[in-house]
Amino acid sequence: MTTLPIITLPDPLLRASSAPVERVDDELRRLMDDMLETMYSAPGVGLAAVQVAVPRRVIVVDPAGDDEEPTPLCLVNPEIVTLGNEVRLHEEGCLSIPDVHVEIERPSQVTVRYVDREGHRQELTAEGLLATVLQHEINHLDGKLIVDFLSSLKRDMVFRKFKKQARTAETL
Ligand SMILES: [Zn+2]
Repeated sequence: MTTLPIITLPDPLLRASSAPVERVDDELRRLMDDMLETMYSAPGVGLAAVQVAVPRRVIVVDPAGDDEEPTPLCLVNPEIVTLGNEVRLHEEGCLSIPDVHVEIERPSQVTVRYVDREGHRQELTAEGLLATVLQHEINHLDGKLIVDFLSSLKRDMVFRKFKKQARTAETL
């Protein structure tokens, strides 16, 4: 397994809509293994393929804590089927937007339909942190980021900061 480089703001690919996957094959399974490795070493609880510069509809998640058994999940073409009525507030970070945290209210329960590593259709109902992570990662597939939950003023501030950082990095 390989750790892949994670793209960060202001990379325009983060705004792209990812393409559906047509076939689950060994190449895709290798990508998912590399994504898990990348997520664990970051460390993070979720990663979308577009974050490693592969704009295809694939996400990996594992909400297990440090002292818990890993529970990796790979979801191909994930789609939200239903959202619960209750909300859950969570301070979310994103591996593509380092050092930025946004308090986001999302439905506390979500049902997701997806294709698993073996190419089988599955449906999963999640609550708590997993529900939050699934919605965060599925947002990535449509180019939606945690900064989109901020006011436009605060969002502009974040974008300016990352553009400035990118310029500074280029001149070094
Ligand atoms: Zn993210």
